Amino acid sequence: MSPARPREPRVVIIGAGVAGITALHVFREQGFTDVTVLEKGSDVGGVWHWNRYPGLTCDVPSQLYQFGFAPKPDWSHVWADGRQIQRYHRRVVDDLGLDRFIRTSTEVVAARWYEEDAAWELTTACDETLHADAVVFATGVLHHPSVPSIPGLEDFDGEVVHTARWPDGLATAGRRVAVLGTGSTGVQVVSALVRDAASVTHYVRSPQWILWAPMGVRQLVVVGSVLRRFPTAHRALYAALQWGSGILADITTRPSWRRRAVQAYARLSLRLQVRDPDLRAQLTPADEPLCKRQVVSGTYYRAIQQDHAELVTAPIAEVTPGGIRTADGVERPADVIVLATGFQAHNYMLPMEIVGRDGRTLDDEWRHGPRAYRMTAIPGFPNAFTVLGPNSPTGSISLQHTAELTARYIAHWLGLLRDGRISSVEVTEEATSDFNAEVADAMGPTVWNTGCNSWYFHSGGAIDLFPFDRARLAELLAEPDRSHFRVR
Ligand code: NAP
Repeated sequence: MSPARPREPRVVIIGAGVAGITALHVFREQGFTDVTVLEKGSDVGGVWHWNRYPGLTCDVPSQLYQFGFAPKPDWSHVWADGRQIQRYHRRVVDDLGLDRFIRTSTEVVAARWYEEDAAWELTTACDETLHADAVVFATGVLHHPSVPSIPGLEDFDGEVVHTARWPDGLATAGRRVAVLGTGSTGVQVVSALVRDAASVTHYVRSPQWILWAPMGVRQLVVVGSVLRRFPTAHRALYAALQWGSGILADITTRPSWRRRAVQAYARLSLRLQVRDPDLRAQLTPADEPLCKRQVVSGTYYRAIQQDHAELVTAPIAEVTPGGIRTADGVERPADVIVLATGFQAHNYMLPMEIVGRDGRTLDDEWRHGPRAYRMTAIPGFPNAFTVLGPNSPTGSISLQHTAELTARYIAHWLGLLRDGRISSVEVTEEATSDFNAEVADAMGPTVWNTGCNSWYFHSGGAIDLFPFDRARLAELLAEPDRSHFRVR
């Protein structure tokens, strides 16, 4: 391997969602010129590009769910719908001149590290080969749809659709729709479909707590105008909401009166909105509020109590050509089956074939579940980083904030590559194990660890979340500790 010399590093970012757009912006801002984003979808936006189901809304207030570097004061609603959020991502990319660095409809299927060249070779689905000095995986966590294996599903006569692959023009008005799954997605899609479907049957395996919030409330036009006119006020609001998300992180990670208050509010949301004791019993979860990713809705309980809506908690036995039969022998007809059954979370960049130093594969490295050092570096995979990777704060601290801190952390290493001070960097196994032990230890008092089964748990049984607060996040992603890395 030739000694390092100053040169512009070739950086490839995989994925153009929240994480990828953030990384691209941060790297460009820091003067890196040879940056390419490869995105398998036909547009930027990540989850907001892929998810187009009826009722899609972000349950994080839009004044918080935005990039710190691309403020948008004028949302139509306090909680904006998916289409508006997707348009925002597109506009950010256009306005910041990022589009020319992004190649859409380009799927990376393999990445291999060549130690002698200190470079990655990437292969796309079209068999194109690209080379990079550093690769940044910004592939997201909720990305690969999870399709349940239910007997008969393939022989259903009507349409079967996963919410994350909603086809344009799918007709549901006047038809009998069956919805499976009651996470954030299932609750949103049921609330929307019930408006014009002939019937909606909601199959619920494990009910979830649903916090009431006025999700449909509009943002006054004057609010947007004032915030646009006074950017300082907008920055202050953004900072206040960031601080608020820190409180949520605190509520989930440590038992406190605040946690108990939110849990009491979740129970009250159910009690006040569902008067029928039998239905309420069916809708009452066995676990504690907040244990799973909290579902928020202002409409679901009303929707499920409509005459043409039905809640079914009997287990599904099979799908028949004309509908769904439950274990109690009842068959309910359906024209469309909607799978709101979630994602194979924690795949991150898998099933890409990723081969690091000495032929180590990521499949093998992550056979007991995904793990990384400080959410971003993986031993055995030099010059490779994740943004919003394992143990990133999902559902508590702002994603955009985390992505930006992580991108700046990575940019530190890219700067050393550019200056010719290093040719490769790899986190040590020891530092990664220490970090993961610290994370596992801190999971103890979290609400996610109170006995529920959720997508927060990865295949190895550990909770793939961030059990610390915002201050610790900033500390972890401040200037890298060189002693935790092997640099060449
Ligand atoms: P999810 O939370 O993983 O929920 C999947 C649902 O499908 C669960 O109710 C699960 O039941 C059910 N399910 C899975 N397999 C099943 C089967 N074979 N038979 C019957 N039911 C089955 O997925 P999601 O609702 O798509 O949400 C995933 C995450 O996306 C959320 O937690 C959130 O982070 C994000 N999201 C956010 C928003 C937002 O507004 N910001 C909106 C949508 C999604 P069990 O619980 O019994 O397994």
